Amino acid sequence: MLSDLLNVLYPPVCCGCRNLLGTGERVICTQCRHELALTNYHLYRETEAASKFSGRLELAFVSCFVYFSKSNIAQKLIHELKYKGQQQIGELFAYWYAADLKQVPALEQVDYVIPVPLHRRRLRERGYNQVDRFAQTLASALGATYNDTLLLRNSYRKTLTTKNKSERLGQAGGIFGLNPFSDTPPGHYLLVDDVLTTGSTLTQCGQVLSRIPGVKLSIVTMAMSV
Ligand SMILES: [Zn+2]
Repeated sequence: MLSDLLNVLYPPVCCGCRNLLGTGERVICTQCRHELALTNYHLYRETEAASKFSGRLELAFVSCFVYFSKSNIAQKLIHELKYKGQQQIGELFAYWYAADLKQVPALEQVDYVIPVPLHRRRLRERGYNQVDRFAQTLASALGATYNDTLLLRNSYRKTLTTKNKSERLGQAGGIFGLNPFSDTPPGHYLLVDDVLTTGSTLTQCGQVLSRIPGVKLSIVTMAMSV
């Protein structure tokens, strides 16, 4: 009753195109869903995503759900997720992608799902980490433990453009760190982010997680920028 009334007062619209959602549609309409350009990277070993980490990180598996480009539907949806509080988009992406990821032998045993953290100041400003719902939903679908307290972001600044290259490299190592109060058992850690661009943030996070004795590391993101 109440939900019927709310639907009349605030009819649910698609987060992608703003058209009214039809019966059975949730968050995103069928047309926008079909517009998402799937990478299908989970089916291959040699991919553009994997090449971004080659020689930088030892990874068991790396994949991205969809392609992200200027003004495409993925870009619109992730903008809604990141800046408009539409966190259900992350959840939906994870539901859809988990169905594929569960078929991947390399992900049969995932122990921990770790979101790329925001600095606590950014978290306060935004009120949420845009990666959390995606990461949480993937963790429960894969039977893994979600852990958003192990990896910490120490630096507020995202880019270090004023430094020269060697200073940047020197400082980059310190942006992320392991929480000294967290347990770090051996196991398969799946690191999760929203958009893979150059891979430098994920590489820095991955290098920190690689310090855990007996760690196996994989990466999944919602999208890859092309
Ligand atoms: Zn739509």
